[in-house]
Amino acid sequence: MIYKGSAMEFYMSPELSDHDHCRYCGDCVPSDQAYCSVECYYKDQEVIRKEKFRDVFWSAAALIGVAVILALGILF
Ligand SMILES: [Zn+2]
Repeated sequence: MIYKGSAMEFYMSPELSDHDHCRYCGDCVPSDQAYCSVECYYKDQEVIRKEKFRDVFWSAAALIGVAVILALGILF
């Protein structure tokens, strides 16, 4: 979002005071908007997807670790 004017004017302006921040880059956006642009939306979705993948990966790694420990316990 591009706003021409001082920061003080921006925060004092009644129609702009009810604003939120872009979830990706932190730019000011209207309160009914989560992102300042489509690019930020897609970039944030990418981050969320990677985090989910990482969680699944570590859950699987933990399960394999437990399985290996159990297998060793049975064998020895
Ligand atoms: Zn943004």
